[in-house]
Amino acid sequence: HAKDQGRNNFQFFTSAMNQATVERLQLERDLKTALEEQQFELHYQPQLSAVDCGITGFEALVRWRHPNMGLVPPAKFIQIAEESGLIQPLGEWVLNESCRQLREWRDLGFPVPNIAVNLSAHQLRLTTLLADITRILETHGLKFSDLELEVTESVAMQDPKSCIGQLQALRIMGVRLSIDDFGTGYSSLSYLNQLPIHSLKLDRSFVRDAETNSNDVTICAATINLAHNLGLSIVAEGVETLFQRDLLIAHKCDVLQGFLFSPPLPAEQVLAFMKNKTISIHDCIKHAAR
Ligand code: C2E
Ligand code: MG
Ligand code: MG
Ligand code: MG
Repeated sequence: HAKDQGRNNFQFFTSAMNQATVERLQLERDLKTALEEQQFELHYQPQLSAVDCGITGFEALVRWRHPNMGLVPPAKFIQIAEESGLIQPLGEWVLNESCRQLREWRDLGFPVPNIAVNLSAHQLRLTTLLADITRILETHGLKFSDLELEVTESVAMQDPKSCIGQLQALRIMGVRLSIDDFGTGYSSLSYLNQLPIHSLKLDRSFVRDAETNSNDVTICAATINLAHNLGLSIVAEGVETLFQRDLLIAHKCDVLQGFLFSPPLPAEQVLAFMKNKTISIHDCIKHAAR
């Protein structure tokens, strides 16, 4: 009997494994045509000033509308795209589409200050990156400072020398740079000091647990101070509750982003959000304890 049980478990295990492998192979195969079939879309999450509640920008987050798997989140396909060389055209599409969208919002009369785009490790290594960005911004009549690039610590840590060079060139051009998910990577503080960045994004995990864990409150406060003392601004990710908002405002965090204000939205819904924001968001930040 035990033997049967064991065999069943084994079969279950292999079939679960197979399912994951099959899904991955399927995604990998379908990814090749997804770009030309126009199956990618961007959702945009507002970033709000903790001081005056104005929109400081939107972060563009890619999704894949798969013909039979529905809306696939980036966690399921970015890595595959990296490994299969598809991240280059996909990343370029994301950059171009975000810039096109920013242009459109401005043309419609919404003075959105900037658009933030996530950059993968592979993209940061591309020797064509600077030329691509220059061309894309020019196409849409945007300035370098209209674009913010988010890179994670681990991305910047892969081949730090050449990454720092590339980031420095971007900074000299005027592109804004931020370190995403700050606090979860492995970079030393002396290394942070060499990165030519403008801001840090405090990782969501510290914000999330600040509500129940006083060590995380300490980490949030210390990271905000660290950023300010290095002359950087700081954005909090994953703000979901009033408690978190009030805590971050009390510690002088500069910019807030999270489900409390809005989830990432399809472009059509961003317009409605911008039209309504003076009511809903203003209340949200104005009434915060200071
Ligand atoms: P990220 O850049 O750190 O983006 C923030 C993620 O947190 C997003 O997940 C967003 O939907 C989610 N989020 C925002 N506010 C909240 C909140 O209040 N609570 C919770 N629980 N989550 C929140 P998403 O869109 O699934 O993206 C996941 C990651 O995929 C991103 O993390 C980024 O690293 C990567 N990614 C997304 N778009 C792109 C892209 O165009 N290119 C590259 N290379 N990576 C991308
Ligand atoms: Mg990001
Ligand atoms: Mg992040
Ligand atoms: Mg994060």
